[in-house]
Amino acid sequence: MNLDLSNIKALRELFETPKKVVILSHTNPDGDAIGSSLALAEVLKAKGHTVNCILPNRFPYYLKWMPGTDGIIIHSLDKIGITQSVVEAAEVIVCADMSTLTRLESLTEVITANTMAKRVLIDHHLNPSEDFDLIFSSPDSSSTAYLVYEIIKAAFGTEALTATIGTLLYVGMITDTGNFAFSNLTPQLFRAVADLIEAGIDIPTIYNNVYNSFTEGRARLFGYVINKKMKTLLKGTVAYMSLTEDEMRRFWFQQGDSEGFVNYPLSIKKVKMSAMFSEQQGGFIRVSLRSHGKVDVNTFARRYFNGGGHHNAAGGKSFMTMEDTIAHYIASVEEYHNEGLV
Ligand code: 5GP
Ligand code: MN
Repeated sequence: MNLDLSNIKALRELFETPKKVVILSHTNPDGDAIGSSLALAEVLKAKGHTVNCILPNRFPYYLKWMPGTDGIIIHSLDKIGITQSVVEAAEVIVCADMSTLTRLESLTEVITANTMAKRVLIDHHLNPSEDFDLIFSSPDSSSTAYLVYEIIKAAFGTEALTATIGTLLYVGMITDTGNFAFSNLTPQLFRAVADLIEAGIDIPTIYNNVYNSFTEGRARLFGYVINKKMKTLLKGTVAYMSLTEDEMRRFWFQQGDSEGFVNYPLSIKKVKMSAMFSEQQGGFIRVSLRSHGKVDVNTFARRYFNGGGHHNAAGGKSFMTMEDTIAHYIASVEEYHNEGLV
């Protein structure tokens, strides 16, 4: 990855004197959103800055073990305006693992209305917004955590890495790459992992914390979704699944329990695109899309579900009923297929 050195210089200058900093990441935060935010927070705190991390809504219970999650401000649970006062006081706002302010959903307004702070973007999604003073955008970086590692190294040196920071960065790296199985796995990434090991991370423990820490309900829900809800199109090459709120209740659903389900149909050799539709509180349907190889779900998400993401992993939203959403997906897949795109 080629980091723009003038940006690094500007970042170093920005953090030359102690600052009040707010770090934000996207709605439905994942391991990369939380890992990259908290790692950056740790580094900046060690340099004498005052740092608050804010997330638009709750993170999955199985990421609670990550060091520093206790201090995260959850905007959707904030009844007394903490988010607003912290944002108003901030001199620097860093957005991590999100390409546009709209990914903050209910937080977007707080950020745009109440602040003159310098805005920094650190992200690896396609099509980053230009609504920032300093932009570190690297769509070919496999995770934001890896990008944060490179920024820490360039701005503060590898001696700034501790076992805690390494653990946070490693969670982001594995959760966004399917434990180092997807694309953009560069030699530099594995050199970064070597540095994290030297900083003292414990890989088997992190792996167990991330992948073997679910509830029984989640395991049973997974079995149900694959067995009863997975459907295929185009001679078994495109799959989709859906989950209603009613079905979630039957399996004692907790937020985050269906993360990763969308990947499973891709373990079938023929399948090159997979979708998951899940009903959300607030009356919309969350759309998750995954693909193999050339099939571009970023374009698909942008075109049909007002979303975006990466080439092989993207998402969006639907405000129709589940039935209409699925009908829209089927028609969209058909159109994409007719254009030779799937
Ligand atoms: P997931 O399926 O895990 O929710 O999301 C997969 C990828 O698509 C993530 O990189 C995520 O940031 C992106 N993504 C998910 N939902 C949306 C959305 O509504 N809008 C945009 N622009 N990106 C999304
Ligand atoms: Mn990410």
